[in-house]
Amino acid sequence: MSTPNFAEAIVLRRAQLTPHMVRLTFQSEFATDFSPGAPGGYLKILAPAPGEVGPPPLDLQTAKRAMRTYTLRHVRPAENEFDVDFVVHGDEGIAGPWARLAKSGDRILVSRPGALKFSTEGANWHLFVADLSSIPAAAVELEALPSDAIGDAFFEIPSDEDRQPIRTPTGIRMHWIIKADPHAPSDALIHAVQNTDWHSGEPSVFVAGEFALAGALRTYFRKQQPTRKDLTYISSYWKLGLIEPEHKAFKAQVA
Ligand SMILES: Cc1cc2nc3c(=O)[nH]c(=O)nc-3n(C[C@H](O)[C@H](O)[C@H](O)COP(=O)(O)OP(=O)(O)OC[C@H]3O[C@@H](n4cnc5c(N)ncnc54)[C@H](O)[C@@H]3O)c2cc1C
Repeated sequence: MSTPNFAEAIVLRRAQLTPHMVRLTFQSEFATDFSPGAPGGYLKILAPAPGEVGPPPLDLQTAKRAMRTYTLRHVRPAENEFDVDFVVHGDEGIAGPWARLAKSGDRILVSRPGALKFSTEGANWHLFVADLSSIPAAAVELEALPSDAIGDAFFEIPSDEDRQPIRTPTGIRMHWIIKADPHAPSDALIHAVQNTDWHSGEPSVFVAGEFALAGALRTYFRKQQPTRKDLTYISSYWKLGLIEPEHKAFKAQVA
C-alpha cells in the first residue's frame, strides 16, 4: 500500500544494539530518493498496534493517533535501505513495543523525511545533550563533524550496557550518565551540563530528549548561558505519561 506521502517499508534485519535499543534495517521504495543529507532527518512511521499485523489502514483518524516520529540513523539509497534505532521502553505505546518484537518481513508505513533544523556551521566547539530517544540524531550529527572538532557530548542511558559505539572526532569528550529509573528527573545530566568547562568561542548546542529535560536546559541556556540562536537546537522528543499525539498537543499549548 502506498500513497504520495507514505510508502511501505519492510524489515530486512534487526540488531539488538544495546539492552534498550534495537536497530531495524528497512527496505522501501522511498529510500531510493533519500539524499546523502537525509540521515539525521526524521520520518513519520505507522506501525501496527500491539496484537495487530501489518501497517494500520491509512485513514486520517487512525493515522493521527498512531503516527510516531523516528530518526534516520543511516541511509543506503543504492540498496533502497535505511536504519532506524528504536528505544525499547516497555509495553506501552505502539512503535517501541512493535520494534521490540519486530522481525524480518514485518511491514510498516513511512513518510518522506523532514530535515532536522540544526546547524554546526561556524561554531568553534560543540555541546550535545541526549537521552536514548535522541542519541540517534545526536550520533548522526557527531559523526558528521570534521575530524578536528572539539566539545562534549552528554548521553543519558539506563545502564552501563547501553553505551553504544559512535564514531566521534577524538576532540569530543563522551560523558555517559546512568539513570536507571525512567520516571526520575534528569538531575545528574542537567548538573553535568551546567558544570561542564565552557570552551572559548561560539558553541553549537544540540539538546533533545524528554520534555522536562529539554525544558530545563532551554531555560538554562536562555537565562544563564545564552547561545547563538542559529547554532542552538533544543527539542522535546517525548513526554513521560503521554503518547506522541498528546505530547505534540501539549507542546503546542505551552509554546
Ligand atoms: C524529531 C524526533 C526524532 C525522534 N527520533 C527517535 C529515534 O530515532 N528513536 C527513538 O526511539 N525515539 C525517537 N523519538 C521519540 C519517539 O518519537 C517517542 O518516544 C514516541 O513517543 C515513541 O512512540 P511509542 O508508540 O513507542 O510510545 P507512545 O505511544 O508515544 O507512548 C506510550 C508511553 O511510552 C512512554 N514513552 C515514549 N517514548 C519513551 C521513551 N523513549 N522512553 C521511555 N518512555 C517512553 C510515553 O511517555 C507513554 O507513557 C523522536 C522524536 C522526535 C520528535
